[in-house]
Amino acid sequence: MAETRETRQKKIIEQELSKLKFFFTAEELHKKVVKKDSNMGIATIYRFLKDLKKNRKIHSFFCNRRNLYSLKNMNHSHFTCESCGKIEHLKTENIGFFKKFISGDICHFQIEVSGVCAQCKEHKIYK
Ligand SMILES: [Zn+2]
Ligand SMILES: [Zn+2]
Ligand SMILES: [Zn+2]
Repeated sequence: MAETRETRQKKIIEQELSKLKFFFTAEELHKKVVKKDSNMGIATIYRFLKDLKKNRKIHSFFCNRRNLYSLKNMNHSHFTCESCGKIEHLKTENIGFFKKFISGDICHFQIEVSGVCAQCKEHKIYK
């Protein structure tokens, strides 16, 4: 049986996806994939990522108004300064304390913390 266009597309996306080690956007993945198949539309990428997400093969986060995806990283957390708007990325490895609030299984997590950053605190520029 001849390989369908869909299977071929899927193979290309999978190949390019496996090369991505960190957080990436659908657009970044699309940019890589079109180098192999210039006819591949971004809608195909979105569909593919959606399926992977459903099967928990990929984890999605929201960062700076964009959707980020990751194969391995299970968390993505921010500290946002309410005074200057600066966003810092936090390394949060453990949310064991949170498990008691959840009856199901945790796959990945994203924590948003707001406050006043060290610089704003130092210069007392509370607005
Ligand atoms: Zn997940
Ligand atoms: Zn982020
Ligand atoms: Zn600040």
